[in-house]
Amino acid sequence: MTGATTRACGSLWQRELPPRPERPALHGEARADVVIIGAGFTGLWTAYYLSTFAPQLRILLIEAESVGYGASGRNGGWCTTEMPALLASLVRRYGAMDGMRFFRTARKTLDEIERVLDAESIDAGFARDGSLYVARTRPQVDRLGAWQDMRLKLGIRDMTMLGPDEAGEYARVEGTLLAGFTPHCAVVQPAAVAAGLAAAVERRGVTIAEHTRALQVTPGTVVTPEAVIRARSVLTATEAYTGGLTGHARRVLPVISRAIATEPLPVAFWQQTGWRDRVTVADSRYQFAYFHRTVDGRLVVGGRGAGYRAGSGTSAAGRYGPRTFARLRAAATEMFPALAGHAITHCWSGAYGLHRDSEPAVVYDAASGLGHAGGYSGEGIALSNLAGRTLAGLVGEVKRPEARLCWTGHRARRWEPEPLRFLGVRGVSALATLADRYEDRTDRTAPLAGFVLRTVL
Ligand SMILES: Cc1cc2nc3c(=O)[nH]c(=O)nc-3n(C[C@H](O)[C@H](O)[C@H](O)COP(=O)(O)OP(=O)(O)OC[C@H]3O[C@@H](n4cnc5c(N)ncnc54)[C@H](O)[C@@H]3O)c2cc1C
Repeated sequence: MTGATTRACGSLWQRELPPRPERPALHGEARADVVIIGAGFTGLWTAYYLSTFAPQLRILLIEAESVGYGASGRNGGWCTTEMPALLASLVRRYGAMDGMRFFRTARKTLDEIERVLDAESIDAGFARDGSLYVARTRPQVDRLGAWQDMRLKLGIRDMTMLGPDEAGEYARVEGTLLAGFTPHCAVVQPAAVAAGLAAAVERRGVTIAEHTRALQVTPGTVVTPEAVIRARSVLTATEAYTGGLTGHARRVLPVISRAIATEPLPVAFWQQTGWRDRVTVADSRYQFAYFHRTVDGRLVVGGRGAGYRAGSGTSAAGRYGPRTFARLRAAATEMFPALAGHAITHCWSGAYGLHRDSEPAVVYDAASGLGHAGGYSGEGIALSNLAGRTLAGLVGEVKRPEARLCWTGHRARRWEPEPLRFLGVRGVSALATLADRYEDRTDRTAPLAGFVLRTVL
């Protein structure tokens, strides 16, 4: 596998899009019933459902850059409802019944997303071919087994455990000892989803203003550099970028994550690897690598650790990250040696949002009219649909079953002030690196690091 042809950093998804409409910035005084800040998936889905549930409302969506500029236009394209860490956390906090109610509702978002993409004629290459999770060392086998045990205890019986030969019928990953296949993942071209949703909400009467950055949010008012907006409800959908709003510096931690994409690969590669349809593949390291086969036969590779900048900075989300890109390249050729010699054509970074307790949340306070949703810990493609539906139901005062889910109204505690935040996050990340190295070298479960990571992740 040869290096990227250019040092320029740019999301494959954003670069593939046809030219988009210019949406002018907002100037002066504006009024709306609801203003939504951020045109990523959360903001767009909220606008979509709100314009459906309460078509009489005047909805204004403002975006600091352009539609899909944030994580929604830069992710790995796994539209998945497999979220083992979240499921475990919800069951621990709320009990099996509420945790499972959330999980079962989340499961149905794939149907709902597919329905909307069809209804709105959004061509985003949606294909629901499932996920293959592979274990390539004994500790990874143990972790995969523990995940299956947790599922079985909760009555979830839809992950099929496969030996190396059976796993090879989905994708032949070098060194596979054990694998789990689940059907609950689709792949999408995420920037196309965002662009399509933006067009769909505009058709429903929502106004989108790009290049309009909210600086300050108070009940009933949003201040931008060139406008003052008055609205009954103000919803923040800024995820990793939330710290840029006055007074919100410690609410959401921005995690910098990276991905690369190969050139379109020849048919011989797909035959050699036995890749079934567009199944997604991931390994089971702490700092896992994940793979997405695109419509035009590229391999998108992401993961292998994530970064944090002191002071919750997000500028690295647009930068070249040579060390991670090299790690991703190495992971890809190690797991799929047939990639050797193929070029990487795109590499990019983005920032996703993490709450202090790693649980996403949807919050709306009817008295102040303030609301927000996010904190999906890097798993927001499917969840943002559920969050948008929930938030829209609450704001539109429509009785919806989603409003009763345990994440509604959940407020995670704030992150520690710096430098504690930096030291803690960097420390956990270093432990994950050490644990993976130890396990790769010894084929034994990392004792201390593994324990700490299981406790904090
Ligand atoms: C590299 C990477 C890979 C990922 N892979 C996956 C994956 O495979 N599967 C998955 O489920 N999830 C994945 N994620 C996570 C997923 O992309 C996010 O959870 C999801 O896109 C969050 O959507 P959002 O709308 O809440 O936030 P964003 O998409 O980040 O949108 C927030 C928007 O708000 C705007 N904004 C910020 N501040 C302001 C302001 N003050 N005023 C106005 N606008 C503002 C931003 O410009 C941005 O457009 C990945 C993330 C990254 C970075």
